[in-house]
Amino acid sequence: MNGDASLEQLRREGRVVIVGASLAGLRAAETLREKGFAGSLTMIGDEPYEPYDRPPLSKQVLLGMAGADRTALPRRRALDATWRLGVPATGLDMAAGRVRLADGDEVPYDRLLIATGVRARPWPHAAEAELDGVFVLRTRDDGAALARRLAERPKRVLVIGAGFTGSEIASACRERGLAVTVAERAAAPLVGALGGVVGAVAAELQREHGVDLRCGVMVTALEGDATGRVRAAHLSDGSSVETDVVIVSLGATRNTEWLAGSGLGAGPRGIACDAGCRAFDIRGIVTDDIYVAGDVARSPHALFGYQFLSLEHWGNAVSQAETAAHNMLSASSDRLPHLWMPAFWSSQFGVNIKSVGVPTLGTEIVVSQGSLADRRFVGVYGYQGRVIGAVAFDHARWLPFYQELIETTVPFPPPFPTVDRRPEGRRPVDADFPDPSVPTHGPTVTLSGYSPADRRMTFTPAH
Ligand SMILES: Cc1cc2nc3c(=O)[nH]c(=O)nc-3n(C[C@H](O)[C@H](O)[C@H](O)COP(=O)(O)OP(=O)(O)OC[C@H]3O[C@@H](n4cnc5c(N)ncnc54)[C@H](O)[C@@H]3O)c2cc1C
Repeated sequence: MNGDASLEQLRREGRVVIVGASLAGLRAAETLREKGFAGSLTMIGDEPYEPYDRPPLSKQVLLGMAGADRTALPRRRALDATWRLGVPATGLDMAAGRVRLADGDEVPYDRLLIATGVRARPWPHAAEAELDGVFVLRTRDDGAALARRLAERPKRVLVIGAGFTGSEIASACRERGLAVTVAERAAAPLVGALGGVVGAVAAELQREHGVDLRCGVMVTALEGDATGRVRAAHLSDGSSVETDVVIVSLGATRNTEWLAGSGLGAGPRGIACDAGCRAFDIRGIVTDDIYVAGDVARSPHALFGYQFLSLEHWGNAVSQAETAAHNMLSASSDRLPHLWMPAFWSSQFGVNIKSVGVPTLGTEIVVSQGSLADRRFVGVYGYQGRVIGAVAFDHARWLPFYQELIETTVPFPPPFPTVDRRPEGRRPVDADFPDPSVPTHGPTVTLSGYSPADRRMTFTPAH
């Protein structure tokens, strides 16, 4: 066997450990086996369940169309893995190549994939968050508990936060005929992800479907009754809402705390990795045996100025997991960059919403097809004179066309001959995203800056 062949052989053997047994973890494991990995595979997950799918939790599960326990992810193949479920990883020893578990065990690895995703940001007041009737929605257990409570037909549901998840929850509640109030700090739903122009359409949609939508307000306190059950919420405009179910939908927090002190480039914005999914250490040096995929990763994207993107997209988790697995088994010349085009879907209030690219980067928007008034349109986002993203409301079949415009860095506004009858005077307008310094919980793509290796920072010498 020559040197290259024996190295190749070595990559197909050894011990791979995957922390995070959900979508990205499962797809990475399957890809490893598909590509001939014959070594030992260990899947570590803090949830007690084998991998399941989250998108149905805010859709079919809340509608009562599927039980939360019927969301298992389909398997592409047998894995021959050791499953360590229901036990969180609590630490990483990079020098020794070991993952520490909460039960005291240590699991050695030759290559590690981290796919620990995100968790729902809880209601900030711990005692109020403990009240009976206050929910978040991220896990299968969350989905099951909330679906049970909705089936009891609460008098009113309050959703705090009108990002995609909050809006889908409100939609499902209305579809079940429940009274719903949505409280949103921004001027409209979905503004963090799609800006104010599209947010205004989302607001109309909610109101038309009977949602009591309160924008520009914050919930300041939740109040319980004598039995510890939530009974009201108080808002920053002085009003209050009587409610027996509160769903806190304030975005997500990245699951990186377990890596504190490990020396890996991990923090609240996620784990930085190169385009080949290899994690950076805190010195900005890329590791060769630790890979990252899915919601917890932040990685540079060539199409978007090598900005580091954190994506909370189902399709990204799958694609990045596949690329990471491929690269774990490949010589450096055969490694692939993760160049997935960001894409997201949502269904709410009877409308199918899809986006491609990075709308949040956009400073301007032009409606290129359909009309906002009909709520059936394509909005194209521009940034520094090029097409950077697009969103479709009930017009999804056109998105591949816009994806190509983004991939080929077509100028903005798009110069194509009209594909639709366009009313006169259609001009780009300000996309109306909130000030980036104001935290929003709507975006599913976050620009998380440059890599830890980026040297454009100012050091203040100690005196
Ligand atoms: C309600 C809901 C609706 C959604 N709808 C859509 C949609 O319509 N379209 C779309 O594109 N995306 C949607 N998403 C997002 C999509 O589900 C995520 O992008 C996807 O789940 C990411 O997969 P992941 O494997 O990276 O992370 P996750 O699914 O978050 O999995 C990470 C796993 O790691 C575990 N973990 C964390 N820390 C540790 C630790 N220390 N040790 C061991 N295990 C750990 C977690 O508990 C979790 O099981 C939705 C998400 C939710 C919650």
